[in-house]
Amino acid sequence: MVSMTAARPVPEPVDQLAVRRVNLSRTLRHIRVNGPGSRAAIAAGTGLHKTTVSSLVEELLARRLVRETGLERSGSAGRPGRGVALSPQLGAVGIEINVDYLAVHGCDLTGRTIVERRLGFDAQRRDVDGCLADLATAADRALAELAARGVTPVGLTVAVPGLVDVARGVVVVAPNLGWRDVPVVSRLAAGLDPALQVGVDNDANLAALAEYTWGVAAGTDDLVYLTGSVGVGGGAITGGRLLRGADGFSGEIGHLPVELDGDPCGCGRTGCWETKVGLAELVRRITPEFAYGLGDGPVPDPRERIAEVRRRLDAQDPAALDAVAGIGRWLGLGGAILVNLFNPRVVVLGGYFADLADHLIPAAQTQLTRLAMASPAARCHFVASDLGFTAAARGGAGAVIERMIDDPSAVPPG
Ligand SMILES: [Zn+2]
Repeated sequence: MVSMTAARPVPEPVDQLAVRRVNLSRTLRHIRVNGPGSRAAIAAGTGLHKTTVSSLVEELLARRLVRETGLERSGSAGRPGRGVALSPQLGAVGIEINVDYLAVHGCDLTGRTIVERRLGFDAQRRDVDGCLADLATAADRALAELAARGVTPVGLTVAVPGLVDVARGVVVVAPNLGWRDVPVVSRLAAGLDPALQVGVDNDANLAALAEYTWGVAAGTDDLVYLTGSVGVGGGAITGGRLLRGADGFSGEIGHLPVELDGDPCGCGRTGCWETKVGLAELVRRITPEFAYGLGDGPVPDPRERIAEVRRRLDAQDPAALDAVAGIGRWLGLGGAILVNLFNPRVVVLGGYFADLADHLIPAAQTQLTRLAMASPAARCHFVASDLGFTAAARGGAGAVIERMIDDPSAVPPG
């Protein structure tokens, strides 16, 4: 008979390991936030004992997460000690797959960019196997480029415009790619080094994390990020944390129904917000000769489509000005819904929204002020992202780095 009273004591070494894991993370995060410092300064900043910090730093050095710098003075008194800084020896890759491009970002632990590119791509003419093969090729190339620069890649995150089951590594549905139940992680990991951590996440969520970490509104604890591409997604940071929802499916802002019996959407419904503000609608209204889904010729890079729109705006083409102002008003209407829901300080506009921000933001801000509850709207403004089309890919690499900092003991010693 099993005794219910004699609870088995938790073995102490397990406890100590857990404590050490937390302290490793604390030390690494302190260096990330405060920059290089001596062991004494880290001890003062974290509240950990100096001998503990010395031992933690030894382990972080062995795992190649930090490196030693020159002499650093911890304050006005005392001898200067050797400094400790984040190491550029480990790195991460993020790849965003979208309807008409792949964006790749590779960086080291310090955030230094090593690889950044966008590749023209046509998801609508590629089946799932073809898309995954292209993703694998892009991943191989980026990982090799990191290695050639002396950076060991620790992980890779794929950003996808759709509903993603992050825990299982499965894209549940990505309407604009035509994907349903695609096990991206297992398919991609099969061809890669087994030591590599492979993940998949929603593109807008990853872009929101990138904005929160590196963007124009970095550190703003309540912000909403909007992706402006063929699809429109959103990622909300509230109280400094990414909002995911019960199933991790929050952020399908592009499919907010805004017009009964409106235009058909890629998701199979009608009148979704992205049919009003998505890139396909902009192109259809201003340059219908370049509309999505036309002809069999080479697919223009989104930049080419936007550059043509920009030329017409600069030439004061009345039809172009009118169309962009209209899209700006719809952007403001959606913004008002977001402001009423999340009360953000900032709505960061990414993708093509950022490229045309000088035209979109005035119209959107006027509409936001008109439609949102007065007080929150007055203290919320639209800003253009400066991370461009690589925000989601950068966020993908950032997610790997964030995991390294959360649990340094998962990184094998070099
Ligand atoms: Zn939709």
